[in-house]
Amino acid sequence: MLIVTGTIGVDTIHAPTGSAEGVMGGSAAYFAAAASHLTPTRLVGLVGEDWPAEHREVLQSFEGIDFGGVEIRSGGETFKWGGRYFDDMNQRETLFTELGVLEDTPPTVPENFRDSRYVFLANSHPAVQADLLDQFPDRALSVCDTMDLWINIAHDDLLTLLKKVDGVVLNDGEAAQLVNTRNVVDAGRKILELGPTFAVIKKGEHGAVLVHRDGIAVVPAFPADHAAVVDPTGAGDSFGGGMMAHLAKLDRTDFDAIQESLAWGTVMASFTIGSFGLEGLRGLDDARISERMDQYRTMARIG
Ligand code: AMP
Repeated sequence: MLIVTGTIGVDTIHAPTGSAEGVMGGSAAYFAAAASHLTPTRLVGLVGEDWPAEHREVLQSFEGIDFGGVEIRSGGETFKWGGRYFDDMNQRETLFTELGVLEDTPPTVPENFRDSRYVFLANSHPAVQADLLDQFPDRALSVCDTMDLWINIAHDDLLTLLKKVDGVVLNDGEAAQLVNTRNVVDAGRKILELGPTFAVIKKGEHGAVLVHRDGIAVVPAFPADHAAVVDPTGAGDSFGGGMMAHLAKLDRTDFDAIQESLAWGTVMASFTIGSFGLEGLRGLDDARISERMDQYRTMARIG
């Protein structure tokens, strides 16, 4: 069974395509929404009393998500994040991060979630990620995400976490920041020296590279025209969701399975970027996902 821990938040986005204020966001929310289309997904996260009822309804509209681990902390404020994309939508800056309840005691993992075998630690404070990881003694595969804020303010906690996880998923800028190396293959190898068995380095519209102790693999991004990219927020988390869901479904953790799972991550991310918030992932059905997978397979075929 797949589980994700991370943020459930309220986002404000400014992009060349428009702006959206107060939309559903958060690393774990995007992950769970994407993963739940492929396999049942347990969600652990903390929100405050101000969490909008519409956001709960959006999340509840995803049938595959088990909300048993979402806690509403009384008196607390929900995590809020604002970001602005540049004309090159591979580039963005954070406008504000209000941690709110994330500065409180982390959520507790419900007893009936502790047997989860596929564990994804979506973006959150690395000390919290490490603490949550310890609560899954039966795990077959643990993978974490991270981002610039945590690399800056919680570097040592992040290094401790990296010693414990099997894999890490991050974008090229974050990888460069973490190990001071621009070349993705070199950066990936340096990350493996920090502990994980593999690193997936995402390069936005240029696809992703898997650097694993057993080899290297590459996937292209799903080619999206101008109109298909409205808001890239959550693409990374949705990629993680598609990837981990596929592995949980196969119940495999070997190199070939991880390589294959990158394609599922890519396809789920391609739905996310089409709209603000979780809209691009809502109302998706198996037929649309399979159709896009088939298109992707055809486009990426190497003879
Ligand atoms: P992504 O575009 O995949 O990097 O994910 C963006 C999502 O991550 C947004 O919905 C934010 O609410 C959330 N987020 C932004 N900053 C952080 C942070 N420092 N820790 C955890 N989640 C974050």
